[in-house]
Amino acid sequence: MTERVLIIGAGMAGLFTALALGASGRQVDILERDPPAPDGGADDAFETWNRRGVGHLRHSHAFLARLRKIIVDNHPALLDELKAAGVQELKFADGLNPIAKARYRARPEDAGLTVLTSRRTTLELVLRRYVERMANVTLHSGVNAAGLLGSLDGENRYVVRGLRLEDADGLREEEADLVVDAAGRMSQGFEWLAEAGVSTPEESEDAGILYYTRHYRLRPDQDAPERAAAPAAGDLGYIKYGLFPADNRCFSITLAVPEIEQTLRQAVLKPETFDRICSLLPGIARWTDVERSEPISKVFGMGDLKSRWRDTVVDGRPKALNLFFVGDGLVRTNPLYGRGCSFAAVEAHLLRDVLDAHRRPAARAIAYHDAVSAELRPYYDDMRTQDRSAIRRARNALDPAYRPRAKAKVLKSFGEDAVTIALRSDPDLIREFMRGFHMLEPSSAWLKRPANLAKVMGAWATPKSAKASLYPPRLGPDRSEMFGTLNLSATADAERLGLAA
Ligand SMILES: Cc1cc2nc3c(=O)[nH]c(=O)nc-3n(C[C@H](O)[C@H](O)[C@H](O)COP(=O)(O)OP(=O)(O)OC[C@H]3O[C@@H](n4cnc5c(N)ncnc54)[C@H](O)[C@@H]3O)c2cc1C
Repeated sequence: MTERVLIIGAGMAGLFTALALGASGRQVDILERDPPAPDGGADDAFETWNRRGVGHLRHSHAFLARLRKIIVDNHPALLDELKAAGVQELKFADGLNPIAKARYRARPEDAGLTVLTSRRTTLELVLRRYVERMANVTLHSGVNAAGLLGSLDGENRYVVRGLRLEDADGLREEEADLVVDAAGRMSQGFEWLAEAGVSTPEESEDAGILYYTRHYRLRPDQDAPERAAAPAAGDLGYIKYGLFPADNRCFSITLAVPEIEQTLRQAVLKPETFDRICSLLPGIARWTDVERSEPISKVFGMGDLKSRWRDTVVDGRPKALNLFFVGDGLVRTNPLYGRGCSFAAVEAHLLRDVLDAHRRPAARAIAYHDAVSAELRPYYDDMRTQDRSAIRRARNALDPAYRPRAKAKVLKSFGEDAVTIALRSDPDLIREFMRGFHMLEPSSAWLKRPANLAKVMGAWATPKSAKASLYPPRLGPDRSEMFGTLNLSATADAERLGLAA
C-alpha cells in the first residue's frame, strides 16, 4: 500500500525530503505557511518572494560538494535545471591560491569537490518547481500546520496519525501514515510533543556571531576579478568575511561579527559602512569597486544564530512514532560552515533509506536516529568546538590584560606556521583537507593520515625565513586600524564589559 506523507514546510529540508520520498513512490503533500513563489525567474524571486518563514532567505548561501553529490547521484536532471537557471559550479581548482594553482595537476576525483553557488532564492525556486512537477508530490501554499494528531501508547510514546491544519478556510484534520517536520529553526514539533507529555532532550549553544549580508551585481561590461593572493574569505578576529559568487552575474558578501563586538555590529548595518569595510579588505575590494559592480540590496542582518541538536530517541527508546524531523528543526548549525542545507539533504535521503529498509514504526525511529547521529554528529561536535574557540578569541581580542598561555601560543603557531603553510603550497594536501570541509569524510581524517601529518610537521620545522613566501598576505586592517578608519571607538565594548585596562 502506498504510504501517505505530510511534510511541514517547503524550505530546503521539506523540498529535499519530498525529492527523496516522492522519488521512492510515496504520496507526499507539502504544507507551507508562506505564499506561493512568484511566477518569474531568479531576479523576480530575489526581489519579491515573500518568505516570512525563512528569515535568512536573502543571506549568502553556498552548497557544499556533499549536497551536490546527492543531487548528481539521485536527481541528475535537477542539476541541469539549476545550471540553466544560472547556479554556478565552483570547481576545486577555482578556489586555489596562486601558489597552489601553479603546482596543481588535475585529478578525476576533483569533480567531486565542486560547490554550487547562487542566491538562495534561485536554488530554492528551481528546487521547488522541480519538486512541484513530480507526479506524486503536491505543494500546498498558505497552509499552517497547527498541531499533531495522535495519542500516547502504553509505552508513553506519541503515536502520530496526522496533522491539524489551518488555512483560509479554517481548521481541519488531515490523516497520514507519516509526518515529517521540516519547519526549520522555528519548528514547533518538539513543543507539541512536550504538550502531549513527551519530553525530549535538547542541546543548544550560541554560535557567537551575527551575520550581515549585502548583494551586488557585476556591471554589464565587467567580469569577476581573477583569484589573487588575498583570499575571498578570511578571519580577522574582530570580523570574518566571505564572498559568495552567485547566479546571473550577482555575488554577495557576508561580514560575520562576533556578538561581543557591539559597536561594530551597529555600524555595519549602514550600507556606506558595510561598503567601506569591504573596500579595506584586499580579498574583496576589487569585487565591490564601484567601477566593477553595484549593490542590489540593503544590508541584511541576522542574529540568534545557534547550534542546536535534538533527539526523538533516548537511550535507544523512541519518544514518537511516525514522526520524523529533518533540517533545522532537528539540527541547527552555525551558518559560517555552510553546512545547514547539506545536513538537510543528507537527513532527507537517510530518511528515505530507513523507510525503505524498515516497516515497523519503532524500528524506523531508531534506525533514523542512529543514521543521523553516525553521519552528522561528528561534524556537529567539530563545529561547536571551533565556535567555542572563536568566542574565546573574540573576547581575548577585546581584553587589554589578556596574555596567551604557552599552550595557546603553541596551538596558534601550529595553525599559522604549520597547517596554513603546508596547505598553501600543496594542492594535494588541500584536496585531502577539502574532503572533510565538504563532509565527504570526517573533518580531521586528512590530518590523521601519516603522509599528510608529515607534511604539516615538515612545514612547522622549516625555519620562518625559508617559508616566508608561503605566509598568506595581510587579510585586512587590524582592529584598531579598522575602528579608527570607521571613526568608531575601539574601547567602548571593552569598557561595557569591564575589561578596560
Ligand atoms: C544567515 C544564514 C546563512 C546560511 N548559509 C548557509 C549556507 O551558505 N549553506 C548552507 O548549506 N546552509 C546555510 N544556512 C543554513 C540553511 O539555510 C538552513 O540549514 C536551511 O534553511 C534549513 O532548512 P529547513 O527547511 O530546515 O528550514 P527553512 O529553510 O527555514 O524552511 C522552513 C520552512 O517551514 C515553513 N514553516 C514553518 N512552520 C510552519 C508551519 N507550522 N506550517 C507550515 N509551514 C511552516 C517556513 O515557512 C519555511 O518555509 C544558513 C543559515 C543562516 C541563518
